[in-house]
Amino acid sequence: MILILLGAPGSGKGTQGRRLSERFGISYMASGDLLRRAIDQHTPLGEQVRQYVERGLYVPDDVIVPAALHEIHRIREETGASGVVLDGFPRTREQAQALDVALEAEGKRVKRVLFLNVPKDVLVNRLAGRWTCRNCGATYNLDQNPPRTPGVCDRCGHALFQRVDDRPETVERRLNVYLESTVPLVAYYRQKRRLVEIDGNRPMNEVTEALVSGTGCHELSGQRR
Ligand SMILES: [Zn+2]
Repeated sequence: MILILLGAPGSGKGTQGRRLSERFGISYMASGDLLRRAIDQHTPLGEQVRQYVERGLYVPDDVIVPAALHEIHRIREETGASGVVLDGFPRTREQAQALDVALEAEGKRVKRVLFLNVPKDVLVNRLAGRWTCRNCGATYNLDQNPPRTPGVCDRCGHALFQRVDDRPETVERRLNVYLESTVPLVAYYRQKRRLVEIDGNRPMNEVTEALVSGTGCHELSGQRR
């Protein structure tokens, strides 16, 4: 089962994507994590994408598409999971088409595209207060979900930092880039009748339940494709 989670930076899709993967027993792939890991480890991919990520810009299709497809296969081989939740990929209509072509060649298809819809002013507030654990990747929000001890990760005790792309000067640009490229992507999946729109401006648990029922699958029956 291949699910795609669409949502702006700050829509909560990282948290929700992990929850969906747990509920259905499938893998979770965040393209943002993939790119940051490549940058931290100075891999050839990392060197290629660093300038884009640090400026809050999108990585070009001819770089991200093969990298994401490679990662989807790697995850499948490593975990043996029968499905994946994709977060942050595809990001453009062209990427979505490339993904469809690649999956079709393997006799597979995207089952559902879940679009987490959150108003822009809410996104700006959420993003400007976001801090991340460098060690385990947990994210906190100073308003909604603060760490118990300021500046320290609840989960693993490491120091929190503000990612370059969560700093106020980058937030507005990220949102505009997102909105511009996502409108055609949403239209693409709507036309293919695979889009399910979810109101993401609600408590996290309510959003999770809406997403689970939006997949049209029963929990842990996700192994059936
Ligand atoms: Zn941590």
